Amino acid sequence: MTTLTLALSKGRIFDETLPLLAAAGIVPAEDPETSRKLILATNRPGVTVVIVRAADVPTYVQYGAADAGVAGKDVLLEHGGRGLYQPLDLEVAACRMVVATRRGFDWAGAVQRGARIRVATKYVATAREHFGAKGMHVDLIKLYGSMELAPLLGLADVIVDLVASGNTLKANDLLAVEEIMPISARLIVNPAALKLKRDAFQPFLESIRIAVTGRKKAR
Ligand code: ATP
Ligand code: MG
Repeated sequence: MTTLTLALSKGRIFDETLPLLAAAGIVPAEDPETSRKLILATNRPGVTVVIVRAADVPTYVQYGAADAGVAGKDVLLEHGGRGLYQPLDLEVAACRMVVATRRGFDWAGAVQRGARIRVATKYVATAREHFGAKGMHVDLIKLYGSMELAPLLGLADVIVDLVASGNTLKANDLLAVEEIMPISARLIVNPAALKLKRDAFQPFLESIRIAVTGRKKAR
């Protein structure tokens, strides 16, 4: 029997991918929020879900440790996408990548003066690309979370972070001053696994595709 291993991360990605998997007839046997298991069986013999950190999903798929996975575009841009086939935008876990500053920071003025700006972010590659394309020289400071704190403590002038509702920014007196790009979760596939397991993959991909289209129409 052909086996399929799908890499997901806990939280948003898992929660929002679940209905799409269900539409493809795949239901994990356990909830990763309550179970400590990292390898979850599903109702479908041969289909297994593995739970990894969001930023590690591309790595597992790239090396074929997982056949497929779901990762945010933010994570894929930082990873670089090497060795990954990206057949489908799942349009879940949607948010925007933005530049945000403390309310009251004169962003337009700083840009105009060509001031040397300090940027704190988890998304160093994307931030470098964004500011580079604008011809701006910035100092990048790598963080792993709670970016909102950086401008408040003077670690950086601005942050590059993801926002959905904007409530976290608001609660910390921050303001989005530039939109970098819209973000959503993508299905990623190991190209060798796709070839070797085509018979298992084709119906899986097709059902997910139909579920994504159906979701779009229902909106
Ligand atoms: P970890 O918890 O391992 O540090 P993480 O904080 O990036 O990783 P999540 O917060 O679950 O994990 O985010 C997973 C993915 O969900 C992100 O890579 C991004 O694509 C998307 N995402 C992140 N923040 C938001 C948000 N505010 N709204 C919607 N989607 C988001
Ligand atoms: Mg998180």
